[in-house]
Amino acid sequence: MELIVARNRADLVKARGEGRVALVPTMGALHEGHRALIREARALAPRVVVSIFVNPLQFGPSEDFSRYPRTLEADLDVCRAEGVRAVFTPAAGEMYQSGRQVSVSSGHMGTIVEGTVRPGHFDGVLTVVLKLFNLVQPDVAVFGQKDAQQLAMIRRMAADLDLPIEIAGIPTVREPDGLAMSSRNRYLSPGERQTALALSRALSAGAAEFTPARIKAAARAVLDGADLALDYLVLVDPATFAEVGESYTGEAVLAVAAKVGSTRLIDNAVLRLS
Ligand code: AMP
Repeated sequence: MELIVARNRADLVKARGEGRVALVPTMGALHEGHRALIREARALAPRVVVSIFVNPLQFGPSEDFSRYPRTLEADLDVCRAEGVRAVFTPAAGEMYQSGRQVSVSSGHMGTIVEGTVRPGHFDGVLTVVLKLFNLVQPDVAVFGQKDAQQLAMIRRMAADLDLPIEIAGIPTVREPDGLAMSSRNRYLSPGERQTALALSRALSAGAAEFTPARIKAAARAVLDGADLALDYLVLVDPATFAEVGESYTGEAVLAVAAKVGSTRLIDNAVLRLS
């Protein structure tokens, strides 16, 4: 079946049709991580809608909104190859009409870890995700563990606001050398690309240890030896993103964010502490 490209609400409603739909929200510049989300979505519903929208609300004033990669034609080819039913790619004016007042507040959880470095980011993310949910009306939506706090916050929003939508997550897809796939990796020079490996190496070093202090120390030792500007390295509860204490048991997320040159990268690993 031919891919439908919907640029406005009316076309989207027609493209969605009736029946079970899975939504994959993205900002485009699609890579293997996005392909994995689409494949998971196809396993969960007969029809998949991919949204491609670089959401101005989730970028800070000094962030990379204007230079964020926009590769729509290549993205549509990816969606065709992956059997997507429709791509929703609205203009900013279609998503945010003038006079806009009301938005989603991400609460305390939106102000910690990633939210400390990117104030307002999660309000912007949750607002656009809720709008996409309302527009597409999916039965299930699929997100990547790569953005672990985002996934946790979307689950929180679905629970807190009683959204009738199942939230599915998939593990982080990596390059063969361990670098987490990201649309921003294309900003990296060859030298920076090498430096960026310190993030996934730090997570592996941490994952080889067994207590919070040792996990963080092992990861930090790798990062200390790399030419990058660390934003944070934390070990947190996967559901709340509160830092875990030394006696914590259960799943924990070791999350890192750093700037390599002018490119900001994030990565994380899910660990089990016993
Ligand atoms: P983005 O286009 O960067 O906003 O990401 C759209 C979706 O793709 C989000 O749910 C991300 O978590 C997910 N994603 C991005 N990179 C990866 C990756 N390397 N592996 C798995 N999911 C990813």
